Amino acid sequence: AKAQGKACYEIFDPSMHTKAVTLLQLESDLRRATERQDLMIHYQPIVSLSSGEIAGFEALLRWHHPERGWVKPGELIPVAEDTGLILPIGYWVLREACRQLKIWQEQFATEPPLTVSVNLSGKQFKEANLLGQIQHIITETQINPKTLKLEITESVIVENAEAAAKTLSELRAMGVQIYIDDFGTGYSSLGYLHRFPLDALKIDRSFIINMCNETESAEIVQTIINLAQNLQIYIVAEGVETQQQWEQLRKIDSTGGYGQGYYFSHPLSGAEVEQLLAEEVQW
Ligand code: C2E
Ligand code: CA
Ligand code: CA
Ligand code: CA
Repeated sequence: AKAQGKACYEIFDPSMHTKAVTLLQLESDLRRATERQDLMIHYQPIVSLSSGEIAGFEALLRWHHPERGWVKPGELIPVAEDTGLILPIGYWVLREACRQLKIWQEQFATEPPLTVSVNLSGKQFKEANLLGQIQHIITETQINPKTLKLEITESVIVENAEAAAKTLSELRAMGVQIYIDDFGTGYSSLGYLHRFPLDALKIDRSFIINMCNETESAEIVQTIINLAQNLQIYIVAEGVETQQQWEQLRKIDSTGGYGQGYYFSHPLSGAEVEQLLAEEVQW
């Protein structure tokens, strides 16, 4: 016990205490923000690789903290996950994104209709009432469920494959689309994929960044495209930042897929999205 005490003393790091206090403060602020509706959603365009037109948007959570300014999702989501706040926040994001989508679909009658992609956290995905909530939101907002895309990471699915397969099948039966987020960074046991009803693989940004200057990344991107083609699903290339990446992706994609990244646009406010859609931009 004495040795353990000493070890504890040695690893005690005052910055860890500061960090814990900051997290606690962040949690109570986040709780208040949720109540006061200080959260908002920004939307990042997703562009069709074949037409170069905007096909839809990914909904990304934003929080403007009264003192700290913009708190990034990378910091906010873990706190929301640990405290369970992710459930009410996640529900709000889904509902708000669908409500906004319906308005844009009516305002800009594109063919095919605009879509919205919403991130589902592991906790949300495992929540018993997930299907009921999504059904409720679809009924309430009157969106076509095919225009809602749910993004789930590989790890959430692999963690409990059997339960995940069941939930995914039920979601699919409701008509919503299932996208695998950050694909290629997780379990890379590709054999299981055909067991899940999927609509697309989102190729992680880390592979797109280097695809034009590193053969290994280029090969991984090509392999994921081949895999998606075999499964008869789409790819979405995340983190497209340069014209060279965009042109290369258009050349090699055989799935009728999409690109997303700063090359097209940063995530935008609702008003900015409306401006962009009105311009009928094309890349
Ligand atoms: P993600 O789902 O992989 O979302 C894409 C992230 O990449 C976004 O960061 C986006 O701003 C950023 N990004 C887009 N294009 C580029 C690019 O060309 N280059 C670079 N370097 N980055 C790019 P963001 O908004 O900070 O979100 C971070 C993560 O937080 C998301 O990663 C997602 O996992 C999570 N997240 C965001 N909103 C929600 C939400 O409503 N619910 C849940 N559960 N998670 C969310
Ligand atoms: Ca995502
Ligand atoms: Ca991603
Ligand atoms: Ca991510």
